[in-house]
Amino acid sequence: MPHYDIVILGAGASGLWAAMTAAKRGKSVCVIDHGKKAGRKILIAGGGKCNFTNLQATPADFVCRNPHFVKSALARLSPWDVVSFVENHDIPWEEREHGQLFCRDSAEDMVEALLLECRKAKVVLRLDSEITGVTQADGFQVTLEKGQVTAASCLIALGGPAWPQVGATDMGHRLAKQFGHTIIPARPALVPFTLPSDWKLKGLTGIALPARLTVGGKSFTENLLFTHKGLSGPVALHASCHWEKGQEMAVDFLPGNRIESLLVEAGGKPLVRTLLSRILPERLATALVPAKLGGQQIAQLTLKDQERLVSLIHDYRITPSGTEGMRKAEATSGGVDTADVSSKTMESRLTPGLYLTGELLDVTGQLGGFNLHWAWASGQAAGESM
Ligand SMILES: Cc1cc2nc3c(=O)[nH]c(=O)nc-3n(C[C@H](O)[C@H](O)[C@H](O)COP(=O)(O)OP(=O)(O)OC[C@H]3O[C@@H](n4cnc5c(N)ncnc54)[C@H](O)[C@@H]3O)c2cc1C
Repeated sequence: MPHYDIVILGAGASGLWAAMTAAKRGKSVCVIDHGKKAGRKILIAGGGKCNFTNLQATPADFVCRNPHFVKSALARLSPWDVVSFVENHDIPWEEREHGQLFCRDSAEDMVEALLLECRKAKVVLRLDSEITGVTQADGFQVTLEKGQVTAASCLIALGGPAWPQVGATDMGHRLAKQFGHTIIPARPALVPFTLPSDWKLKGLTGIALPARLTVGGKSFTENLLFTHKGLSGPVALHASCHWEKGQEMAVDFLPGNRIESLLVEAGGKPLVRTLLSRILPERLATALVPAKLGGQQIAQLTLKDQERLVSLIHDYRITPSGTEGMRKAEATSGGVDTADVSSKTMESRLTPGLYLTGELLDVTGQLGGFNLHWAWASGQAAGESM
């Protein structure tokens, strides 16, 4: 039975980064994954260009029951450290808005670089190997569909169940639970919303506009996209990280402007609908504002009419019926409760020698390269310590 210093479950972003880091310290490392390829989520990240970090990353960009948990790992691997890795491998990259860094050519460059580092440091990579169980007695025994691997330390880097099309499972949650960890129920995050079939704004598929979404006291301003099922676009994906089933959201369709001032500027003569069609997509304006109100001259509006317009445009209330689920979620919220994990080393406080990193933990980054950054940073913390 092959024996290693470290066995890493999952050849995803976090597992590969941890493997490279630990093996460079002279540890013998075996990485196991059931995929035929390593890093399958990295390959599809950022539409195939992999938004690999964000220059503006701070702990506030992560949702976690303990907001302090991410601080130590983030302090030890900065976005510029990731840029150094990328540049050392001559990977062309570009900065897009909001500090987001992408591979200029392909996410494959990132996976190739990680695999190259692993090969150089003699990491053993076992792909196409389903992990069926882990036990502990004098080290860790990992049972595979075919064979077993033993090691002194074990890192669970199996991610979360979001986007199962590329091999994501809840196996990591099940294993962590087996070792006594509390699992905060997993929910789809960074996912489009679905809306009730009788929703008034149905049928606006394809319309996109900047909007502000407020949910649970948090507001986000970015592009909103109407889909045939509900709402998507960056602002909806951001909001989904904070949304709980049954919760109401408020939409401001005109962020950064006020309809009250625009009514004054337009003068009294134009019809309300004429003004609205200048400042909002016409189909949205028609669906949003009742025909009677839209057909009035601005000068005829009563105070009540004006208040109605303000609330329709700046404070439109919706309660999603749900989300498009794990198959459309770019991240998993919830996961292993960080209360029982060391924030410095990612070691379990319940089982010495067991480590947990990446999306498996109850840490969800906002849209913009934060989730991969967390995978690298937590992988680095574990890789330095195992
Ligand atoms: C469509 C999409 C786009 C994304 N784009 C971005 C982006 O641009 N920027 C960003 O920061 N984040 C992005 N993310 C999120 C990011 O990819 C993840 O947060 C990150 O990959 C998590 O790293 P991880 O190592 O924790 O898990 P993963 O990368 O998911 O790795 C877990 C590994 O475990 C393996 N595994 C699972 N179960 C088993 C089992 N039973 N046996 C053996 N192996 C198993 C899986 O095959 C996988 O390789 C995106 C996600 C998706 C789905």
